[in-house]
Amino acid sequence: MMTDIIYPILQKYYNALNSLNSLNIEKNIFESIPLIDNFFAEFRNITFVMQKSFNTKELKEYYTTKRKEFLNDNNLRWFIDKRNETVKEYPFKLEKEILVYAYLPDYCGKIVDSRLNIDNDVPLETIEQVIKAYLIKYNKNSDIYFSIDILFKENGNEINIYSRIKNGIIIMDNFINEVITDYPCNCSKCKNIIEKIKELKTEIFLKDFTFSWDYTIENNEIIWGQQIEMRASDKNGCPISMSDICIPIDANLPISKNVINDDMELFKFYASMHYTIFNLQKKNIMPTFIIVYEDNTVSYIPFIPTIKTTFYRKAQYVEKIARKKDIRVVYFIGENFYYPIEKIKEIQQPYSQRIKHASTTLLSLNMISKKYEHVMTISFDINNIECEDYVINQINNPYEDINCYWLNPILDVLKEKNLSKH
Ligand SMILES: [Zn+2]
Repeated sequence: MMTDIIYPILQKYYNALNSLNSLNIEKNIFESIPLIDNFFAEFRNITFVMQKSFNTKELKEYYTTKRKEFLNDNNLRWFIDKRNETVKEYPFKLEKEILVYAYLPDYCGKIVDSRLNIDNDVPLETIEQVIKAYLIKYNKNSDIYFSIDILFKENGNEINIYSRIKNGIIIMDNFINEVITDYPCNCSKCKNIIEKIKELKTEIFLKDFTFSWDYTIENNEIIWGQQIEMRASDKNGCPISMSDICIPIDANLPISKNVINDDMELFKFYASMHYTIFNLQKKNIMPTFIIVYEDNTVSYIPFIPTIKTTFYRKAQYVEKIARKKDIRVVYFIGENFYYPIEKIKEIQQPYSQRIKHASTTLLSLNMISKKYEHVMTISFDINNIECEDYVINQINNPYEDINCYWLNPILDVLKEKNLSKH
C-alpha cells in the first residue's frame, strides 16, 4: 500500500486557510498579527511537506515540474519573503487603513484616511462613535449617511494584503488541485479535509466585503446596514465579485448593433426591458448598476440594500471602477419614493419614517453618459404602469435629472477621462 502522500499537503493548506479565516475587522491588531504570521508559515509549509512526501525519483521529478508550472509566480516570491521575515525576524507589521466616506447634501466622498498600527490601535466601535459625533455636529439638519472601509496593509506599503493573499490562494489552489487529480486519495481523512478546505475558501473569498460597513444616523442613534452581497463563482468555486464578470452586451439579448453603439438607444432598450421584468416580478426589482465598457462588454452589479447608505457606497464603488477601466456609459435601475407636496412636514423626518408617507413608488432608470451634461432619467409611476401609452411615452422622453447628485461623481470621472483623451 502506498503511504498517503496527499494528506500532509492538505493539512498544511487547511491550517493556512483556517488561520486567515479567523481574521476580522473587529479584532485588535495584536490579535490579528499572529493569524497572519501563522498563515505565512503554514502556506510555506505546504511545499516543504510536499518535498518530504514526494520522495521517490519519479515523485521528485513530478514535484519539480509542477512547482515550475504553477508556483513560479512573482506573487509567491512575496509569500516566501513574508514567511522568512515573520518566522525569523519580526511579527508582521500589520496596519489597518481606515477610510470613512460621508454622503451629505453638500459633499460626497472620503472624510478620513488614516492608518492604525499596533501602537495606536483603537476598536472599531470607538471609531464609529467619533465619526458619529463629528457628523452630527457638522450636519445638524439632515440625514447622515456614512460608511467605513477597512483595508489590511503592511507598514509603509500600499498593497492591500488581503487581496494579494487571495491571489496567492488561487495560485496554490490550482497547484493542489492538479496534484490531487494526479495522485488522488480516497481515504476519509483526505475527503473530509477537502470538504473543509472548500468551505474555508468560500468564507475567505466572501469575507472582504465584511471589511466595509454602512451606517446611517437617525435620532442620534447609529443604524447598521445589513451585509448582503451578490457573488458569482469562478471555475474552482471561489466567489468573485460581479464586476469581474464581463459579457458582450448582446449575450442572450436581442439588441441590434445600432442600439448597442448608441448610449441613448441602449438606455431606452434597458428601460423597456426592466419595465417588463418589473411587471413580471410582481413590481419588484433589485437595484442594479449596469456598466458598459468601451469594448461593448457589460457587467451587472445587483445589490440588496437595507439602508440608503449602501446606494451611495455602491456609487463610489462604480466611480472607482470608472477610474481604472474604460467605461463608456453606466446605467442604474432602482425604485424611488415619491412624496406629495402637502406632506412637506413628514418629508423632513428620517428616511425610515419618511418612506411611509410616500404616495407612490417610481421605477426609475438613470443614464450616466459623458455625452450628456447631466444624469438622464426615465421613470415610471407604478400606478400608471399598466397603461401602455403612458409607458411608451415615458420611454421616449428621458429627462435631465438634477436630483441625482449621488450619481454625479461617476459622471465627473467619465467626463474627466473623456477630456484627457482628446
Ligand atoms: Zn488520504
